[in-house]
Amino acid sequence: MRPDKTRRVDLINCRRNVEGMEGFATQLRRRGLRNTPQRRAVLIALAEAPHSTVAELSAVVAQAAHRAIGEAGAPAVAGVDGLSRQGLYNVLDDLTRAGLVRCIQPAGSPTRYEVRVGDNHHHLVCRRCGSAEDVSCAVGAAPCLQPAEHSLESEEHKGFVIDEAEVIWWGMCEQCSSLNDVVKADASQ
Ligand SMILES: [Zn+2]
Ligand SMILES: [Zn+2]
Repeated sequence: MRPDKTRRVDLINCRRNVEGMEGFATQLRRRGLRNTPQRRAVLIALAEAPHSTVAELSAVVAQAAHRAIGEAGAPAVAGVDGLSRQGLYNVLDDLTRAGLVRCIQPAGSPTRYEVRVGDNHHHLVCRRCGSAEDVSCAVGAAPCLQPAEHSLESEEHKGFVIDEAEVIWWGMCEQCSSLNDVVKADASQ
């Protein structure tokens, strides 16, 4: 079973994302970025599917864009459907630089993107399927994890000012661990 704590965090995320959708245009302007349909589409897609990879994103961006256009009553916008892979990378790059999108890069698996930024949350990543889940930071403020004190006293690291720790807990998601049990049971028969 996935711990209840994680479920609760997911629900909080959903609510935040709904609020976020209304505010994406404002957020773009506030960060000095042009409010383009491509950028809005990527933000909405990420709000709907946090921790998406570029491949996953390119599949949902067009769909999300259409819905956003319909909701806002704005005219259909050309170009979002045909957002190329390179175009998508450019949009993600701009949004990440502006601090509207955060990327996580679990070792050996593709980069994942999310719109939940600035709250110092961490991730559970499944070794088998690569899925990522948000978990809240136990300390609540960055940097929530410190290296051994003596290691910062060395000549090499002296003067280094730590401002953030990014934690990934590796393991297996509920689905994959139950699959694993089935495989084990089959093997032992
Ligand atoms: Zn998994
Ligand atoms: Zn996250």
